[in-house]
Amino acid sequence: MELEEKKPLNFLEKIIEDDLKNNRVPNNEIVTRFPPEPNGYLHIGHIKSICLNFGLAQKYGGRCHLRLDDTNPTKEDVEYIESIKEDIKWLGFDWGNHEYYASDYYEQLFEIAVQLIKDGKAYVDSLTPEQMREYRGTLTEPGKNSPDRDRSIEENLKLFLEMKDGKHPEGKYTLRAKIDMASPNINMRDPALYRIKFATHPRTGDKWCIYPMYDFTHPISDAIENITHSICTLEFEDHRPAYDWATEIDGIEHAPHQYEFARLNINYMLMSKRRLLNLVNLKLVEGWDDPRMPTVSGVRRRGYSPESMRDFIDRVGVAKTEGVVDYSLMEFCVREDLNKRATRIMAILDPIKLIIDNYPEDKEEFFEAIDNPEDPNSKTHMIPFSKEVYIEREDFMEVPPRKYHRLYPGNEIRLKYTYYVTATSFEKDENGKVTVVHCTYDPESRGGTTPDKRKVRGTSHWVSVKHAASAEVRLYDKLFKSEYPGKDTGNYLDDLNPESLVVVEDAKIEPYIKEAKVGDYLQFIRNGYFCVDNKDSSPDHLVFNRTVTLRDSWAKMKKKMGIK
Ligand code: ATP
Ligand code: MG
Repeated sequence: MELEEKKPLNFLEKIIEDDLKNNRVPNNEIVTRFPPEPNGYLHIGHIKSICLNFGLAQKYGGRCHLRLDDTNPTKEDVEYIESIKEDIKWLGFDWGNHEYYASDYYEQLFEIAVQLIKDGKAYVDSLTPEQMREYRGTLTEPGKNSPDRDRSIEENLKLFLEMKDGKHPEGKYTLRAKIDMASPNINMRDPALYRIKFATHPRTGDKWCIYPMYDFTHPISDAIENITHSICTLEFEDHRPAYDWATEIDGIEHAPHQYEFARLNINYMLMSKRRLLNLVNLKLVEGWDDPRMPTVSGVRRRGYSPESMRDFIDRVGVAKTEGVVDYSLMEFCVREDLNKRATRIMAILDPIKLIIDNYPEDKEEFFEAIDNPEDPNSKTHMIPFSKEVYIEREDFMEVPPRKYHRLYPGNEIRLKYTYYVTATSFEKDENGKVTVVHCTYDPESRGGTTPDKRKVRGTSHWVSVKHAASAEVRLYDKLFKSEYPGKDTGNYLDDLNPESLVVVEDAKIEPYIKEAKVGDYLQFIRNGYFCVDNKDSSPDHLVFNRTVTLRDSWAKMKKKMGIK
């Protein structure tokens, strides 16, 4: 085995190791589950839960189930189920044949509910939702018993079966657990177990018109699947007594335990399916997989790698207190990863033409470029060069400011990989915009040095005009312009960044780009990291997305703060 860097155990690992050591785990097999509700696409927050659940199972040689928690038929959709599976696979995790659905347990849940009624532990309540809220009490005041709490077992059974048979309209009756209306924990004040809902379920169709509640379904699903460690986010802490109540119902043989960790929050981002759905429905983004969305399909389309996302989650760590992670830490992880793997390409996003007056008209030369200088085994590719090349508009100035080392009349620079050139003159259009720059090259400087070893300070990237590929390039930035969207404006929609997408219609790129495929990682030299758009790019119309800029604010911040 390779020597591994020893990292301190997080609190969940400590619990698991302790349970294993003390023989508290049946067959010594750790079983976790990732339980998304299929009511939207997965977001970066879910990645944390996925990495934890699958990661812990992997680390301790157990298994992790994928459980679709499909108990709310009105909001769920097969499209979501498919996307969830695709996203987990993309992240590099595998549930094997352990794919489960809460709806698979409807029959068993129903039997358990009937048993609870027979044992006098559940009753059918006819309070309206408003009345129920009223009777529930508050954090400081106990609740009151519903007048139906003492309904006879026979009557409860009869009504519950009628509910199941569709004899009663929605909202008329609710099945509730009989626990304690005076409990200091509101979740224990006779929580609802079943409600009537005349909705077609994506999997069970019209078979049921009563649906079990989350706090009843989730723990029992965990018990049925022999989950050992049921890991969820902190907002479920107050639900833990209800979880324990459900797993202690007579006849349930396995009692899993629930542990809570702090959810992932990132500044400048929203991580709530409901709000993300709202952005999609209002067409403020192109869809769930819009590269600006914090969804897994969004970051995939943006060009983030699964490795960088796992690294990010790893660096964030697991804690029991809420915090906000800096957006730039995520981008730092993305850059670190892309720096190691991205193929370097010359692309000009805002082209002006540079004509090398003393270069022969029909001559073509090819220069070898390393695909990735960070990779000792990197391949190389050839870049064609000719008399006319594109350079970035910002690389030429008629009147240079101080410390400007790129082209201006009389100044000499290096064209990357090729020759030294000196600007001689330029042309402008009727609006005074520079259209063409003329220069001469020094044939002796081929490959980047001259016999007299004179120095030039600037290097520009370039693309040969007659060999260039044209492409649409989409420059993405943060979707929200404020650190906590909606915090000051009261409405997150008011904090959308109007510059989150800038489209370059006709970028010029070296011809090697035509070999790039969806999923390749690219760096356009000096312009950032890019990828092929997985939806809109075609050989006839190349489309690239900017994954992240090259500037690294997190690295700078760390340096400033003295963090290693
Ligand atoms: P949302 O609030 O976005 O709708 P959710 O919690 O309702 O999220 P689920 O589909 O129920 O979404 O989540 C599946 C699992 O992912 C749950 O165990 C949940 O605790 C976890 N999870 C959701 N959001 C985050 C987050 N931001 N950080 C870590 N885990 C999360
Ligand atoms: Mg939810």
